[in-house]
Amino acid sequence: MISLSGVTRVYPGGVTALAEVSLEIERGELVAIVGPSGSGKSTMLNVVGTLDRPSSGRVRIDGHDVSELSDSQLSALRAGVIGFVFQHFHLAARIAALDNVADGLLYTGLRRSERRRRAEAALARVGLGHRLDHEPHELSGGERQRVAIARAVAGDPPLLLADEPTGALDSVSGEGVMGLLRDLNAAGTTIVIITHDREIAESLPRQVRMRDGRIVADSAGLVRT
Ligand code: ADP
Ligand code: MG
Repeated sequence: MISLSGVTRVYPGGVTALAEVSLEIERGELVAIVGPSGSGKSTMLNVVGTLDRPSSGRVRIDGHDVSELSDSQLSALRAGVIGFVFQHFHLAARIAALDNVADGLLYTGLRRSERRRRAEAALARVGLGHRLDHEPHELSGGERQRVAIARAVAGDPPLLLADEPTGALDSVSGEGVMGLLRDLNAAGTTIVIITHDREIAESLPRQVRMRDGRIVADSAGLVRT
């Protein structure tokens, strides 16, 4: 599902956030990315999610060499294959949960009624079938993150990328969100989760550890350097 080969990302100004990173993630995996703040975790997730392009190296997602895709092919890949969840939810303010999720399906070309039907199903799937009309400020943090997850998975992407999805939540809400991500993984979604939470990381089947822009440990085996 994900193949990084010698991926380097140097930001303007000269920070090398990723240095020759190579990583393979198979379909159906559930992987934790851990490491200190500033070690390159978010940069790697953004490169995997095609939100950012590497300075050098090869990125393959779902069989596509990202560097060979046009902007519109890249948008199509992002829209159809990859779901994103962020620490601070990134929901639209003053917009009902149902529309927050349905608007994530705008690219599909589906009619509005069908987008809303799918959004409702996604919200039911995350246990929020009774909160369709609530705006973000009328929801708890855990509920907001569940809306964000519903938006990320409403189009049934095979890959879900989550950057500190429990980082802004209390531990009980965080457990709820993790339970949801495990269920999605059990149903077949490949999931990569950046987390600072040691217990969460250790509870996942695979842990990849970063430091100074490099992968320094991978519980799945040998680290290629
Ligand atoms: P993490 O998610 O592990 O905390 P990041 O990937 O956000 O780490 O950052 C890795 C390094 O790149 C840090 O030194 C950070 O300051 C730097 N960095 C991140 N984003 C940018 C940017 N847009 N421009 C310049 N430097 C950045
Ligand atoms: Mg980060």
